[in-house]
Amino acid sequence: MLIDSHCHLNDPRFNDQQAALIAAAAQAEVSDYVVPATTASSWPAIHQLAIDYPGVHPAYGLHPWFIDQHDRDAMTQLSHWLASHPAVAVGECGLDFLRPNRPQQEQLFAAQIELARDCNLPLIIHAHKALDRVIQMLRQFPGITGVIHRFSGSLDQAQRLMDLDFYVGVAAGITDTRQAKLRRTMAALPLERLLLESDAPDLPPAGVTAELNAPEFLPLTLTALAELQQQPPAQVARQTSLNSQHLFNIHASH
Ligand SMILES: [Zn+2]
Repeated sequence: MLIDSHCHLNDPRFNDQQAALIAAAAQAEVSDYVVPATTASSWPAIHQLAIDYPGVHPAYGLHPWFIDQHDRDAMTQLSHWLASHPAVAVGECGLDFLRPNRPQQEQLFAAQIELARDCNLPLIIHAHKALDRVIQMLRQFPGITGVIHRFSGSLDQAQRLMDLDFYVGVAAGITDTRQAKLRRTMAALPLERLLLESDAPDLPPAGVTAELNAPEFLPLTLTALAELQQQPPAQVARQTSLNSQHLFNIHASH
């Protein structure tokens, strides 16, 4: 069975079709999901999904894209929420230097790294055009772990993250043969440090004509990764699921 380590099952674009999405994904051997939040307003819906579906594992955080929407006391709210709602990670948090408010992004990210450390939870990190700064900030908090989701950096950056005990999220970008650099990087990284993710509803794998990505397409990313790693798909499925279980301390639902 596969674990989708990053899936926005609560996304409004899914139009409350979660039961059908999860049923279709089960046919494709996807049994479990880590569902990261982006704003405080999404926390209750994710909590409810985890009650309704045993394969859903919530993460709560404040995404850098929504700096303008987060309340001034959002970090206090997050800390209170995490104290009373089960979670497998803090996230989705991080830095995106293609978006505005860099000082506020860094402040919010640092606060969430600290909270993850205090709660003894891993981090789910969004890093876009900001990976070196993310690595620099993570270095200031020894002992923390997590994943850089939808990793698109260099082999050198991946190495520095692995040295910090971080994992690398592998999304459908690798199914696109035009992404030669990313594919070379994913071919060279140790399988023990890779997590499979859909990032649905964004980023459908190459060849999928549906408008929205869905977790049922995760096997396409698995197949591409198995080819790049020159390993049997079953082995890649087994190891990446073990990696997710280990990082997020989850027991797969099937
Ligand atoms: Zn995401």
